[in-house]
Amino acid sequence: MSSVPEIFGSLVFNDKVMRQRLPKDTYKALKRTIQDGRSLDRTIANVVATAMKDWALEKGATHYTHWFQPMTGITAEKHDSFIAPSDDGVIMEFSGKELIQGEPDASSFPSGGLRATFEARGYTAWDPTSYAFIKDSTLCIPTAFCSYTGEALDKKTPLLRSMEALNRQALRILKLFGNTDVTRVLATVGPEQEYFLVDKEVYKARKDLLFTGRTLFGAKPPKGQELDDHYFGTLKLRVSAYMRDLDEELWKLGILAKTKHNEAAPAQHELAPIFTTANIATDHNQLTMEIMKKVADRHGLACLLHEKPFAGVNGSGKHNNWSMSTNTGVNLFEPGDSPQDNAQFLLFLCAVLKGVDEHQDLLRISVASAGNDHRLGAAEAPPAIMSIFLGDELTDILHGIESGTMTDPKEKKLMSIGVHVLPKFPRDTTDRNRTSPLAFTGNKFEFRSVGSSFSISCPNVMLNTIVADSLEQYATELEGAQDFTAALNTLIRRTIHDHKRIIFNGNNYAPAWVAEAEKRGLLNLRSAVDALPLYSAEKNVALFAKHRVFSAAEVGSRQDILLENYCKIMNIEAQTMVEMAQRDILPAVLRYIKEVSDTALAKRTLSADIPCGAETRLTGKLSALCESLCGRIDTLNALLLDAKTCTTVLDSSAYYRSAIFPAMQELRAVADEMELLVAADRWPFPTYGQLLFSV
Ligand code: ADP
Ligand code: MG
Repeated sequence: MSSVPEIFGSLVFNDKVMRQRLPKDTYKALKRTIQDGRSLDRTIANVVATAMKDWALEKGATHYTHWFQPMTGITAEKHDSFIAPSDDGVIMEFSGKELIQGEPDASSFPSGGLRATFEARGYTAWDPTSYAFIKDSTLCIPTAFCSYTGEALDKKTPLLRSMEALNRQALRILKLFGNTDVTRVLATVGPEQEYFLVDKEVYKARKDLLFTGRTLFGAKPPKGQELDDHYFGTLKLRVSAYMRDLDEELWKLGILAKTKHNEAAPAQHELAPIFTTANIATDHNQLTMEIMKKVADRHGLACLLHEKPFAGVNGSGKHNNWSMSTNTGVNLFEPGDSPQDNAQFLLFLCAVLKGVDEHQDLLRISVASAGNDHRLGAAEAPPAIMSIFLGDELTDILHGIESGTMTDPKEKKLMSIGVHVLPKFPRDTTDRNRTSPLAFTGNKFEFRSVGSSFSISCPNVMLNTIVADSLEQYATELEGAQDFTAALNTLIRRTIHDHKRIIFNGNNYAPAWVAEAEKRGLLNLRSAVDALPLYSAEKNVALFAKHRVFSAAEVGSRQDILLENYCKIMNIEAQTMVEMAQRDILPAVLRYIKEVSDTALAKRTLSADIPCGAETRLTGKLSALCESLCGRIDTLNALLLDAKTCTTVLDSSAYYRSAIFPAMQELRAVADEMELLVAADRWPFPTYGQLLFSV
């Protein structure tokens, strides 16, 4: 293996390569585009395209693709080769036009009614803030995907728009504090990715894992995670070989893979990169998930990214660490040392309190899915109730500010924001409160409700937009003030007073919190079906329109796509259960009953004195369970037929949640009971024990 600095970014058309390969003025123009988020000049696109192609050919690429992130949540690509006919064969060509814009025939991607099929065309446009890279001998150009009328059909477009909104409003605030050297404010993100590794052969023997990504049946194994012997445990050889290979693949793509360790559940692991801008972090996380699966395959493993692959065992999440940084390298959530810096920090902190409190629904929506429903509120991940953890020290400071009782211990007089230096509070760099949905960890917020298979785009669109909205209101108020410091004091105190109910430093898993949150008037949107219909609430449509993140039509389309997706997933899961119960479990158990009865019969023919009590009891129990299994299969089938009669996606998602989901759980309960009675070698698929301890 070459040295890490040598391989790092070797497959990326990054700044270093651009500087080497582009004419100076082209490089400068492109750099300006990237740094200031301007649109790319057509004339320089040709020069960039040629340089990109030459570089890609040297690296062995033969094709190029506009790499984009449609609403399916995974990435899409359509490969075109570079070849063009010439007099004596072919030449390799790639134009500026092909770099900037593409036209995939994209009629099969979900659009939530934004694109009638007769108007199926969509276009992809290069996002120069994310570097091109090579994957599978193909030059991949990160692009946004829109309809011909300009509506966003993907996850990148709204993210870029929300980053722009945040930048716009944050710059107004910074200017008020006299920070005129800052020209750009960026959302920064570091996502910590959890996943499971199981043996590929074991994985392939389970239809539920193949079709749905999670186990739909499976009795608890004698050993689970109760000994806590896996968390941060020594890596097994096979796992460490996988991780080494994975790191190398990610490094080649310029992904800052940094930390890797075992997680709480057996076979569960985590990978964390070093943070970068929200946009690149999102692209990189999509790539990371894809490469994780690919490398696993190479190692005879299967990588499970589902939020809840196994019942009774911790599921997987993705901690989305979020902060704001200036182009001069200042983290805006880093508490300062001067009165000025302190006041600015407090104002940005207040913007988060206000944004999260006013838009709890949007954060909840951004983590809503059928898969994540199994985790949120199940005492293994934050509850469905949104709140913020600040830690006691910082909370005390806020209370002191609000009540006007904060005194300077030295001068023994009341302190004023923007005039005095606030008392220091220790920075929390640990996972001190792992139960909070949104924890302030000293200089960033950790949004812990995100599911492991999610694109992190939507959670960050929400964080960016709700904070941008607070900042917009603050800027307008402060810009009009006569006395800035006095107005700032009033504003901060008012925010704390109005929004302190969103701060919760206690145990979010405790049942008492549910009651307390209700008293505080906080939302508790238990399932995806409770949360998603609020997407298009009037306040949300107005918010997104105001900051030019989504049009009303775009919000509606996203809500529909997510609800439809929920129904489709539930439908596939229910059908897979019926298939496995009817065609695998029932026949296997019936065969086993016959086998046991035959044994009894054989004994009786030998002598009437040999006892057959064990056989009789076992076949009796299993026969009764078979009856009940058949009944529950029939019920589930009937409900699935009924679901088809729902006329709206709101109705059908509610039906899947309230009728089909409980019926699935009932079917599972019988099958899991059977599993514990049937001989291990007669059960039709690998057990939890085999899955969890397969590697
Ligand atoms: P902790 O141990 O408290 O979770 P780490 O420092 O290990 O904190 O960081 C966890 C993740 O947060 C990493 O991916 C890291 O890159 C990311 N992170 C750190 N600082 C920032 C920041 N300013 N903005 C966004 N993400 C950050
Ligand atoms: Mg963490």
